[in-house]
Amino acid sequence: MAENISNISVRFVKGVGPKNCEYLKKLGVETVEDLFFYLPFRMEDRRHPVKASQILKMGNLNTPLFFEGVVRKIKIRRSPKRRTQFIEVEVFDSEGGAVTLVAFRQRVKFLARAVSVGSRLAVFGRAEPTAEGLVMYNFDFEVLEKGMPTLSFFRIVNFYRVTRGISLSRFRRWMWNAIKVYGERIPEFLPAKVLGKFSLPGRSAAVSGIHFPDDFPSAARAYRRIKFEEFFIFECAVALIRNILKKRRKPHRYILKRNLLTRWKKTLPFAFTAQQKKAINEIFDDMLAEKPMNRLLQGDVGSGKTVVALAAALLAAENGKQTVFLAPTLPLAMQHYETVKKLTEEINVEVEVLTGGVKKGQREKILSQIASGKCDIVIGTHALLEENVKFRDLTLVIIDEQQRFGVHQRALISQKGIIPDILVLTATPIPRTLALAVFGDLERTTIRQLPPGRKPVKTVFSTSEEAWRIIRGEVEKKLQAFIVYPLIEESDAGSGKAAEAAYKVLSKDVFPDFRVALLHGRMPSSRKQKIMEDMASRKIDILISTTVIEVGIDIPNATVMVIENAEKFGLSTLHQLRGRIGRGKAESCCIVTSSSTDEMAIRRLRYFTQCHDGFALAEKDLELRGAGEFFGIAQHGAMDVKFSYNRTLEAGFGEVSDLRVIKEACRAAFSLVGADPELKFYPAVRKKVYARFGGRLHLAKVS
Ligand code: ADP
Ligand code: MG
Repeated sequence: MAENISNISVRFVKGVGPKNCEYLKKLGVETVEDLFFYLPFRMEDRRHPVKASQILKMGNLNTPLFFEGVVRKIKIRRSPKRRTQFIEVEVFDSEGGAVTLVAFRQRVKFLARAVSVGSRLAVFGRAEPTAEGLVMYNFDFEVLEKGMPTLSFFRIVNFYRVTRGISLSRFRRWMWNAIKVYGERIPEFLPAKVLGKFSLPGRSAAVSGIHFPDDFPSAARAYRRIKFEEFFIFECAVALIRNILKKRRKPHRYILKRNLLTRWKKTLPFAFTAQQKKAINEIFDDMLAEKPMNRLLQGDVGSGKTVVALAAALLAAENGKQTVFLAPTLPLAMQHYETVKKLTEEINVEVEVLTGGVKKGQREKILSQIASGKCDIVIGTHALLEENVKFRDLTLVIIDEQQRFGVHQRALISQKGIIPDILVLTATPIPRTLALAVFGDLERTTIRQLPPGRKPVKTVFSTSEEAWRIIRGEVEKKLQAFIVYPLIEESDAGSGKAAEAAYKVLSKDVFPDFRVALLHGRMPSSRKQKIMEDMASRKIDILISTTVIEVGIDIPNATVMVIENAEKFGLSTLHQLRGRIGRGKAESCCIVTSSSTDEMAIRRLRYFTQCHDGFALAEKDLELRGAGEFFGIAQHGAMDVKFSYNRTLEAGFGEVSDLRVIKEACRAAFSLVGADPELKFYPAVRKKVYARFGGRLHLAKVS
């Protein structure tokens, strides 16, 4: 049998060799298989050259064009003013029409060396009509030689992200050579009936269809196949985990004693809404069952999830069991602590908070109370799991905000040798269409109703100037404001340069008479905590921040939120941010601004100003931005997934269609696992799933 392409080094591909091997390694390409799945990010239609006469007739000269012809004249000149050198190369097509290529500086020598009078050239660029005829300044070219077919012209041409030292034309050549020799050896792992049912091309056909497509529809089919297989593997893992979890049994049991719970209910300053009651019932049913709970509690910001979670913790407490309540950030842990303390003031439960900020002596005391079982509810951040905290009888883990909680943390829980009931709270509504696909391993409860008396936050699309005016009015009434800035780019993660820059201007020039503070992710947590405390105790009028305030924080006196460059956020995120205000009695207002000229982006923001339903906004996100946001959640939460998803997105294939592929992959995977729960008859699928998600599956088994 021929060797597997995942074991063949790219070094053996014709034209690569040891030196280029090093360059390719930087791209993560080491084997022939890696090369095949190194996907392009863009395609260009360079199938048919156009004549100069056609170019002149075209109205829109903004699109780059493919022009082919013979070099008749080459002139190297010096611009009289700036004394810089430039080169002019006149290229004539078969009708005698001409395009002049003009290049400056380093490109002069390069071009002079590459072409000579009589060379046949293929050129791709934007042609500009001038007094001297058509001119191209920025262009891609290749000298066409007899018997050496080019891979960069006369076809649909792909663009790959390559490093310095590799030229695109050589990269395409390697890909071509690799496909010629190994292209038929790409092992298929999807069952034939799945291929047939969803009309998917085989794996070999898909790989060559992506890298060297005959036409756009066949490229799209090839992409669909590659996406399908990624989602299919993911969905198989989801289905397998679901099966494992169904069979799991927990060692602990609770009894509904109601001694704590009933007393507690009487002390609450409000009555549960109907949906809160339903949620509590579902959670209690889970907890009283034999298999461990794995439930996701979804609900809009402010829908009252915390009290519901607390009810679960009290059921554990009245059975003498312990609960960990994990918050995504330190300020949120503190806030939960305050909330839970207040809501349990009149009943007999011990609540503690354990964060990095707790002093050593106090810490030891808390740790011993946790170990002895005196402490019923421990609140903290994920750091709590990393530490050597010993519990006497931990049975319930509540996790606030799924997206910040990774598979890594779940692993830490199970390492403690506990099979806990898990309740995850999230304010990011997963549209029904995606729920099974993303959270197939979690049962779900949804609260779709806000507590009585809460007014929706009035939302407007406006300018920063208008926003500053509104803020001024509110702060003068002793109310408070948030101003949120997006992170500029990924490398900016948590540093909040935009927020910092804005802080300087706003605190000095715009609001010199108010107390303005800055909060961003890079600050030490003690500092962040201090700022949030100051905001809560009204020592700050205006808080400028990045999205660190996204989740949770309760400042009832804040009535304005300005979100700058709001187009950078997904609708769900915007909605979460907006939920930070409108928590008090006063009317609240959210102002979104944007300097984007993208019509779609503006439409999206206008929709946001009119819609106050988190689920509708999530569905809209899905429709407009694709499933990326939700799989983003899956990535950090339920699963560690690395989709080529984004790469295929960049390549310009419909985002909405992804949803269909996801659903199809989900259906195919669940039906396969349903019929063959161990994937005994599909060893190739099994192998892929375990290679990718084995850790997660293992975790589900042991935990
Ligand atoms: P979430 O975590 O879902 O965003 P919270 O649990 O923080 O929402 O609840 C928001 C606010 O609503 C809290 O101040 C809480 O005390 C209050 N609340 C919760 N349930 C009710 C209810 N049934 N009636 C009135 N207020 C409620
Ligand atoms: Mg909350």
